[in-house]
Amino acid sequence: MMSIRSLLVVVSMLACASCTKTPVAHSPENDLALLWVKHAAEYEAISIQVYQAAERDLPEFINDTSWSAMPGQQHVESLPPAVILDVDDTTVANIDFQLTYERPFSSQKMYDFYQTNEAVLVPGVIEFVAAARNADVAVFFVTNRPCEIIEADADPCPQKRAVIKELLDTGIETDDTHVMLAGEQGWDRAKIARREIIAETHRVIMLFGDDLGDFVPCVRKTLYGPCTQPATAASRRRLVEAHRSYWGHGWYILPGPTHGSWTSFR
Ligand SMILES: [Mg+2]
Repeated sequence: MMSIRSLLVVVSMLACASCTKTPVAHSPENDLALLWVKHAAEYEAISIQVYQAAERDLPEFINDTSWSAMPGQQHVESLPPAVILDVDDTTVANIDFQLTYERPFSSQKMYDFYQTNEAVLVPGVIEFVAAARNADVAVFFVTNRPCEIIEADADPCPQKRAVIKELLDTGIETDDTHVMLAGEQGWDRAKIARREIIAETHRVIMLFGDDLGDFVPCVRKTLYGPCTQPATAASRRRLVEAHRSYWGHGWYILPGPTHGSWTSFR
């Protein structure tokens, strides 16, 4: 008679065989990360928590004119304060776009989506942006949406126009100089170059993003900007640790479980 232990081994072998022959379909309907962002009240709570914490920190960083959230930024006392926000899943919530389209995502798919869908903001961001502006803090949006030609659109960078319109539609007015895309003016996907340009004229008091690359360079396997070696899972963790004092104090990170630079390191 077969022991329980032997029976379990046979059952697990059968289960494994069935797994390899019939892979579980990957679709938005069974993607827990997508479903969490779309449906979990916890996602909304975390986003509000991040922006409310940042709003409480505003007076401290405005008043301390030696403070900068950009490591290495010096001689900042006379510069006007600014904050830098990523766009996708930091300012604009793209979960409905991700639930609508199969991967890989593309500029064309996003362009098409926002032709017929209103943008939705990440919870808490509009109140934070209003508070920052009321305190005379400039708000910059640095996004890795690329400037790319779109079918039937003569604009060489329709994505920039789209971002500004999406923000405006949701109640955040902005303009060309405060929105910086990848591919504009030769900028690559390492956001550090764009942050440094802002830091030439502003004291950067806060950074916001849902990706490690919104805060530090060299987070990808592809070499961009100042990076000489591809990132690894370990190097990314070292970057987090090396900047420990900034998290929640100048740097504010939102959940990004559905996409981003981390997905290359599974
Ligand atoms: Mg993002």
